[in-house]
Amino acid sequence: MILGAALQLIGTTAPVYALLLSTYFATGWLSFCNDPARADKIQKGRALSAEKVRRDILQSIRSLFSIALMFSIGHTLYARFHIGFTAWPTSIFSVILSFLISMVAYDTWFYWMHRLLHSKLLYRPIHRLHHLSLPSVAWSNNSDALLDNLFLQSYWMVAHLILPISPVVLLVHKLYDEISGVIGHSGVEHAGGICWPPSPLISVTHHDQHHRFFNCNYAPHFTLWDRLMGTLHHSHDAELKENLRQRRLPSAPENHSDA
Ligand SMILES: [Zn+2]
Ligand SMILES: [Zn+2]
Repeated sequence: MILGAALQLIGTTAPVYALLLSTYFATGWLSFCNDPARADKIQKGRALSAEKVRRDILQSIRSLFSIALMFSIGHTLYARFHIGFTAWPTSIFSVILSFLISMVAYDTWFYWMHRLLHSKLLYRPIHRLHHLSLPSVAWSNNSDALLDNLFLQSYWMVAHLILPISPVVLLVHKLYDEISGVIGHSGVEHAGGICWPPSPLISVTHHDQHHRFFNCNYAPHFTLWDRLMGTLHHSHDAELKENLRQRRLPSAPENHSDA
């Protein structure tokens, strides 16, 4: 039984890790920008040293393995030992609903864990590594310590047990999170007018401000918790509108007032 569980754990970890790695590298390659002269850089005139870029990539390769392992532990407990709630029967409605529920649940988990990691007690020993790259680049997304992942990414283990969600939907959600996270660290506002404030969807500017101003903008998917708890940076909406205008995105009104 233990051997069977171990084989299942390895058999799940390997493909999940491969998927996460390929998503990280494909998205990073497409959205990487470290040219300080680029006009659409959010932090204009700044670049990350090649040494720090390399450090972020190496740390991300390690970090993604720990995320794949946590995902697979949750999956093994669910699929082999039948711990947790049985997933809803598959239908278009249940897939869409469970994806949205997982988005809200993860957003809540990450927001509060992230705030905890910014406390005086936990920041230096656990979360500081993620904030060493300024400006962040796409490769910085998973530059996290193992303990940091235990706080922020253990959702992917626990969600198997506390939500009636298919593991496939959960994996698709994690891949979505990986893509949006890598783009969110790219330093260039790739979001469209769909993020125009007060849209609840976060943008690249949102997380770029987290790295710049530190104690603000904690959530990964939505701006709701930050707005509700007063942790959205005071310049967020105005700066995001300006960055969207500079990108000349079709749905960002040219002469829209900030008022
Ligand atoms: Zn942080
Ligand atoms: Zn970050």
